[in-house]
Amino acid sequence: MSVTFAAPAIVVLGRSALDTARRLRASLPKATLHGLTARVGDDVDVPFTELGAHLQSLYAQGTPIVALCAAGIVIRCVAPMLSNKGTEPPVLAVAEDGSAVVPLLGGLSGVNVLARQIARTLGIAPAITTSGELRFGTCVLNPPEGYVLADLAQSKHFVSDLLAGESVRIEGDAPWLRDADLPRASTAARTIRITPRIGDGDRETLVIHPRSLLVALTRADGVGAQQVRDMLSAQGLSALALAVLVAPLSLMGHAAIRTMAHELGVPLRFAAFDPAQVDDWLTTMLGSDVDIRHDERGMALALAGAPLDPTQIGRARGTLSVIGLGPGNAGLRVPEASAALAAATDILGYATYVAMAGPFRDDQTVHPTDNREELMRARHAFELACEGKHVVVVSSGDPGVFAMASAVLEALDLSDDPAWKAVDLRIVPGISAAMATAACAGAPLGHDFCMLSLSDNLKPWDIICERLRHAAQADLVMAFYNPISRARPWQLGEALDIVRQWRAPQTRVVLGRDIGRPGATLVNTTLGELRPEQVDMRTMVIIGSSTTRGIDGGPNGEWIYTPRWYGEAPGR
Ligand code: SAH
Repeated sequence: MSVTFAAPAIVVLGRSALDTARRLRASLPKATLHGLTARVGDDVDVPFTELGAHLQSLYAQGTPIVALCAAGIVIRCVAPMLSNKGTEPPVLAVAEDGSAVVPLLGGLSGVNVLARQIARTLGIAPAITTSGELRFGTCVLNPPEGYVLADLAQSKHFVSDLLAGESVRIEGDAPWLRDADLPRASTAARTIRITPRIGDGDRETLVIHPRSLLVALTRADGVGAQQVRDMLSAQGLSALALAVLVAPLSLMGHAAIRTMAHELGVPLRFAAFDPAQVDDWLTTMLGSDVDIRHDERGMALALAGAPLDPTQIGRARGTLSVIGLGPGNAGLRVPEASAALAAATDILGYATYVAMAGPFRDDQTVHPTDNREELMRARHAFELACEGKHVVVVSSGDPGVFAMASAVLEALDLSDDPAWKAVDLRIVPGISAAMATAACAGAPLGHDFCMLSLSDNLKPWDIICERLRHAAQADLVMAFYNPISRARPWQLGEALDIVRQWRAPQTRVVLGRDIGRPGATLVNTTLGELRPEQVDMRTMVIIGSSTTRGIDGGPNGEWIYTPRWYGEAPGR
């Protein structure tokens, strides 16, 4: 039996739980590892500083919580949330040595299923306490994927009545109940009815809908979620039985269709069918005995004999996320970037950054490439997204600062493939090396500044010199990216000579190397003392303005900052 969960958060409070947590993450699709920064550092997907607040926010988002700590701690943390009505995600406590798993909350959202899955991974027995489940060997109220309860409120009595001794008969096909230890009798007064029809459920009848209906659109105009609901109810069918909305490939870029699927709460798939021959496509896919009905808006409704698996029908609209990893440590990576990585089927990028973005699961494909193949990588990303994949392109820092976001947009600009334009493209920002270095040093970017790449691979050296001259004359603080490399050994020296024509030798300079990564170094020096040998391609060079100054303190013995004012200090 399978139930789909949102991606679980595996939460650890100390390093001693990491082994068990990693085993669980490897076995739970899309799970992310969350750790208390003070105890586990940044060696996790999502670091947090306060357990209570973190668990509450996960709970509020409906994220399943697998906490590797005492059940009592978890209960106290989520307790303030429990009086809130609304969906309750699965919440479980797991002993940090993997010797026990205790489902705590989320009986109706599959906590016992998750507990059994975790127990299998750990080779232990789950601590199931739900009486219906213990008695019948399955949770009647928690049908597997492909089925949905018609009315939860009404169903609760049903199970207590069975526990009290009522017998039951099953109408329709409920494969997961075949082996269940239910008190069956053909004359029973209680019925579990499996049907896509709008149920006349009552205390005697538990209605479960198989998600066996498919609606195919042939055009985008005049249709919306309400029209689908109307069409289903006119046929006496429940909207809960709708498994999937399908549209022709040509409509992939239509926002209104996405809204429609979202409102109906069903996956949207696209397939290569001719709208005029939608019946042929439906019978080829679902079998010649499928029941097909039409409405005047060009929608086709197919009633299949069993639940439909949407992932087997056509394909999804592909997504392409261009993300920034930040300077290196997980704490400086934005949660949206981590979420994109967790949802990715395919990850592309320069091998070093791809390695930084991992570890990845077995179901994810990694495509590391050489740093220089940016446009090719961008095209490859679109091709994969067009196949319906969830593609992530990784950059370090921010993807829009001398990185992949521009390459991806350039590839799109140069393409005339309409399918590329239909890809769900998003750029997720990150903390750029200049920001990360500045924060270590103090606030050298506190006033006007500019970011310059000293690499003349993609622009003429003359342009770089010209910009340096103007920036130096304008007294802007400068952040140099790509300051030097083996292939570009002399450029930094020449750049500094230009800056020195306009700026005094005592001008403050900050060198940040491998900021946010192991072995990070931060050096405060001056323009007069700075030598190119102190700098390599993993260094960020920040040249202060005439007002940038240092004061005692800071991790480095001195804070460097640029005041927000200029000229005369106001009110000082
Ligand atoms: N997109 C990246 C920049 C890519 S250009 C960003 O926004 O940070 C690569 C240059 O960035 C390097 O040559 C170096 O100058 C700088 N850089 C990147 N990561 C760095 C880090 N962790 N510490 C210091 N400098 C870094």
